[in-house]
Amino acid sequence: MSNKIIGLKEAIKFHGHLGPYLVLGLLAGRLGLKKTGAKKYFGLDVCVYGANKKPKSCLIDGLQLSTGSTYGKGNIQKRASRNIKIIMRNPENNKKLSLFITEQLKNKLDDLKGHRDSEKFAKGLFNLNTNKIFEQQ
Ligand SMILES: [Zn+2]
Repeated sequence: MSNKIIGLKEAIKFHGHLGPYLVLGLLAGRLGLKKTGAKKYFGLDVCVYGANKKPKSCLIDGLQLSTGSTYGKGNIQKRASRNIKIIMRNPENNKKLSLFITEQLKNKLDDLKGHRDSEKFAKGLFNLNTNKIFEQQ
């Protein structure tokens, strides 16, 4: 079994269910660590915009799991916004990555109806190329 699948199983165990925003958080965090060269747990400062209400707030659990940045350590925070934006910064080298969800994906997410639909979509999302999911800046 690949690390990727184990990661998803652990995430569901922690979060309680499988949903697309959880998956988005997992993928975004992984990308953030890679692009900024940050170390997990202590190396990345994360700021999440537009994830204040469920199901969008599920994004935050995915991010905490994948980056190891947690509320307990104070290296993740959320801010109110109309649109989802994730800013990740490695304070050691000052490398920063900003992620937005593509317009196409945003529309799909808004069209999801019910738990089963969301779960199925989340599984597919996990295996999608991140270029199709996020716009990077
Ligand atoms: Zn959730």
